Amino acid sequence: MLNRRQQQCLKGIGITQWLTRSASRPASEAIQQPEVEVQEDIAIVEQKPPETPIIVSAPVKLDSWDDITQSIHQCQACELAGTCTQKVPGVGDREAGLMIIGEGPGHEEDLKGEPFVGRSGQLLDKMLIAIGIARSQVFITNIVKCRPPNNRDPHINEVKACEPFIQAQIKHIAPKVILAVGRISAHHLLNCTTPVGKLIDQVHHLPGSEIPLKVTYHPAYLLRNPSAKSIVWRDMKNLHKMLNG
Ligand code: URA
Repeated sequence: MLNRRQQQCLKGIGITQWLTRSASRPASEAIQQPEVEVQEDIAIVEQKPPETPIIVSAPVKLDSWDDITQSIHQCQACELAGTCTQKVPGVGDREAGLMIIGEGPGHEEDLKGEPFVGRSGQLLDKMLIAIGIARSQVFITNIVKCRPPNNRDPHINEVKACEPFIQAQIKHIAPKVILAVGRISAHHLLNCTTPVGKLIDQVHHLPGSEIPLKVTYHPAYLLRNPSAKSIVWRDMKNLHKMLNG
């Protein structure tokens, strides 16, 4: 049974709660749930070949958490370092059971230096609260730590340049579950090109590790396609079970 706050969050993210048949409501008042048809976000984005080679200015030291954060701040390994306002390493509990990995900072994240603080972030927070998790209890980061100009998809050389950081962060946090948010994150972490709609609702594993990995739609996609929220809500409850099981 959801508490009042969780119910309010569900309402806030546009999820209608089902009532069981045993509820005292007369049949004439029964809620009709619309059939949900979700369009898979299958847009295949052509990856431009690297325009500039990866410049690794100095070997990066990633042994401790401070090393990782400092190396991110000092990184000049791709052209995004020159176009972003600041690096966005991640935020939250370094001992979190849940690690959330998005695509890359947007405009507001670039200004604030914190991931998922814009409209997508607000929806993500509500999705978490709906399963009883506060933002401060998870660790949130992105595949790339610098904002791609005009919020374009990160190029493959940029993702590759940032890869040691996400791998080091995962190793250090050793989360119980990873939640890959959106196509770029899911495809990079799982090394696949399967549409998110086919990856959702299953438990994957981070290649080469035992860490379970769930995939969900990006909140920005949910803002554009609210009908997909009910699928995400069902899957968030599975995530909750995994974290508490
Ligand atoms: N979208 C993302 O993938 N990450 C952010 O930090 C913000 C928006």
